[in-house]
Amino acid sequence: MNFTLPELPYAYDALEPYYDEQTVRIHHDLHHKAYVDGLNNALAKLAEAREKGDFSLIKHWEKELAFHGSGHVLHTLFWENMTPKSSGKPGGELLQQIEKDFGSFEAFQKQFSAAAGAVEGSGWAVLGWQPQLSKLLITQVEKHQDLTVWGIVPLLILDVWEHAYYLKYQNRRAEWINAWWNIVNWEVAEKRFSAAR
Ligand code: MN
Repeated sequence: MNFTLPELPYAYDALEPYYDEQTVRIHHDLHHKAYVDGLNNALAKLAEAREKGDFSLIKHWEKELAFHGSGHVLHTLFWENMTPKSSGKPGGELLQQIEKDFGSFEAFQKQFSAAAGAVEGSGWAVLGWQPQLSKLLITQVEKHQDLTVWGIVPLLILDVWEHAYYLKYQNRRAEWINAWWNIVNWEVAEKRFSAAR
């Protein structure tokens, strides 16, 4: 029951010029793969611990599980929520909810970009639906193994770890964020939102 690295839903060079082929290859084939391997390893070590009844390293393996499991899930969502054929903005119920919770699509986009630009160190920016609050929220993720707002359902994921953009954009994270808006797959975000609601 090992997890495997999911195929990209488009060619490696499909997101050019906003997201360059070389970074996508390294990011997907090496970085994402390492999370999949780490998740499988943590699950195997936890199974071994249960078999032996030896939980002396439980804190270590639970942390490894959270780190690699979150890395695998977030990267999978991130690859899926990009497309070479972006519609530029969402429609339907998701657009209505964005306008309700952020005032306008433009205001939402500014807040998301600001949040992504200000994540300290390695991290992510996430638009998610919080069912208990019945509200869309933008959150920053600094250590992705730490949960942010309990129960949030991620709808749109932007990877702002340096490995995600450094070859092409170096220290110009804001340029990566601006370019990324051109390759967002809003249909996928709309589907995730309907499913979450
Ligand atoms: Mn990444």
